[in-house]
Amino acid sequence: MARGSTMQTAVLGAPGVKGRKVRALKRNDKDAVAGLIRSIAGTEEQGAFFVFDLAAVVDLYSRWCRALDGVRPYYAVKCNPEPAMLGAMAALGSGFDCASRAEIEAVLALGVVEPGSIVYANPCKPEAHLRYAAEVGVNLTTYDTEDEVAKVKRCHPSCDLLLRIKGPDNPDAKIDLGTKYGARADEVVPLLRAAQHAGLRVAGVAFHVGACTSRVDVYRGAIEAARVAFDAAAQLGMPPMRVLDIGGGFMPDATFDGAAEAIGEALAQHFPRGCGVEVISEPGQYFAERAFTLAARVIGRRTRGEARQYWIDDGIYGALSCTILGDYVPRPRPLTAPHPPGGEEKCTTYASTVFGPTCDSRDKVVTGHQLPEMKAGDWLVFDGIGAYAASSGSNFNGFLISDIKTHLAYST
Ligand code: PLP
Repeated sequence: MARGSTMQTAVLGAPGVKGRKVRALKRNDKDAVAGLIRSIAGTEEQGAFFVFDLAAVVDLYSRWCRALDGVRPYYAVKCNPEPAMLGAMAALGSGFDCASRAEIEAVLALGVVEPGSIVYANPCKPEAHLRYAAEVGVNLTTYDTEDEVAKVKRCHPSCDLLLRIKGPDNPDAKIDLGTKYGARADEVVPLLRAAQHAGLRVAGVAFHVGACTSRVDVYRGAIEAARVAFDAAAQLGMPPMRVLDIGGGFMPDATFDGAAEAIGEALAQHFPRGCGVEVISEPGQYFAERAFTLAARVIGRRTRGEARQYWIDDGIYGALSCTILGDYVPRPRPLTAPHPPGGEEKCTTYASTVFGPTCDSRDKVVTGHQLPEMKAGDWLVFDGIGAYAASSGSNFNGFLISDIKTHLAYST
């Protein structure tokens, strides 16, 4: 795929990636990641670590461009702020959704992203962070309260606003962000007026349909609600709005194509091409989830009758925090295929509980998960663990967030 290999070359030269150890793998070589992990896991001192598959990000970006042509992603840094991830996204042409000063700093530190490619997409910002955005020229932010209008006026009066609206209720979403953010329909006009009276420019409308949703109709409803807000602004005599930000919530599975189709249809109806509105988005999970694999080491075990208990060196206060904050369902697999004694076809497995390393009893990764007999020093592999994992973990009990040991790309 010529375009794919050009994209990959760009990614390999990206800040955050260049100079790192990158190993080549063949497309469709399913065992390549396991092989790599095995080679890293070989040393006694090695603790839990991630492998970052740059090639997966390139593939997802191509898929995004095919399905949502014209909708520029502004990668949601909160999902995984790993510099190589940010560099790869920048090289592919993405903008960035930042939620705080530190996230803006991380993106600008790449040295290749213009402040104009950043949306400060947190509707309620600390004043000091907003002043920093003013200093570095990040001039687009979201709001959904009158207080925030006054704050922006005080701290960053040249900042343009995106009115964050609440889309349809979405109890299906793992995290329904509408319970915390977004103007209700009856609040739209007062909030537009508030910005107008403050002399701030409302550049457009933003929404987020909720994290980890498999419902695609919510995008339709939210785009329709955005159209209503655009029309309300025109009726108030405000300068024409020019940005529609359709947020995140995309998953890299089969639901993506359905969501993209629903969005395409709704945009054609309410914001047809050539209408002067730029459509942007804030995907996080879609790009990060599949690109990271975690390997964690068994550091202890207990046998209780037929049940097994294992302790590993990462847990819910570390990378596996995504089991709480995201929709990650851990299905750890042993790194090395077990060899059944006596040549039987199938190896015996046991209902196993896997604990994280902290002293908290809630630090439990899986319960009743079938695993072969493991011993201290063996490795468990967690696939597709790039979203809200490293970024939401902590160093609780002194266990540091696992490092990224290597980066993968396709051999060209
Ligand atoms: N934008 C905003 C404002 C968010 O709050 C989030 C997630 O919480 C995202 C984007 C990224 O969402 P996702 O990872 O579901 O695509």
